[in-house]
Order: sequence, then C-alpha cells, then structure tokens
Amino acid sequence: MNARRTIQGRAGAAAGICDSTNTRTEACACRACAHRKSPDEKHRANKRDVMALLDLIAGCVENHPRQAFDHATWGHVGDIAHLRDRLMEIAVNFAVEPDGDEQAARRRLEEALCADDEYVGEALIDAV
Ligand SMILES: [Zn+2]
Repeated sequence: MNARRTIQGRAGAAAGICDSTNTRTEACACRACAHRKSPDEKHRANKRDVMALLDLIAGCVENHPRQAFDHATWGHVGDIAHLRDRLMEIAVNFAVEPDGDEQAARRRLEEALCADDEYVGEALIDAV
C-alpha cells in the first residue's frame, strides 16, 4: 500500500506528500519517509524548503493583496505584529547562547532592530 499521495509540481516533476505529517516526503523525517535517506539529504531538503518559504514570506509581506491598503487599520497592525512575533521566536532560537537565556537573546535582537534601516541587517547578524 502506498502511504503517499502524488501531486504535480509546477515544473511537472512529481512530488510526494507524507500522509502522516502532510510534509513533502523529501523533507519529512518520519520513520517511513526517513527510510533510505541520510540525515544529510533530509537536512538539505529541509534547508531548501526553509529558504523557499522565507522568500515566499518576504514576497507576501511586500505584495500580498491583504498588504495592499492606503491606510493601515489596527487589524493590519495586529496581523503584521503577529507575523513579527512568530519570526522573532525563530530568530531567538538562533540568537540564544549556551546559557539558554532566551530573554537576553530577544533583548539583543530587539536592540539590533533599533538600528537605522541601513544598518539593521548587520546589527541583527551581530546579535546572533
Ligand atoms: Zn513522513
């Protein structure tokens, strides 16, 4: 019995989705999907997906129809603040030091975000 369903990718390549996790089988690390793949291959697939999703998120923040408005409402603020919080949580995971102090990591990231626009990227890198 095939536990995976198949979808067609935009380029015509078949891609499998794990029925257990609803994750792309190339990236899925469940027992069935990890079979015959090395950790290096699974890591590479997951990293590729992370980079693609980051590109998607950046594009959506800039161009999604829900981002097209003349004047922001408090609802728009809540939406973007929620996204910011979720991304901050991920960034904190990279910034936390061996002592495990997440509050300190978050504080460094928030302080880095206080930098002027042209320096904020560099400041964030320094914070992690
Ligand atoms: Zn799986």
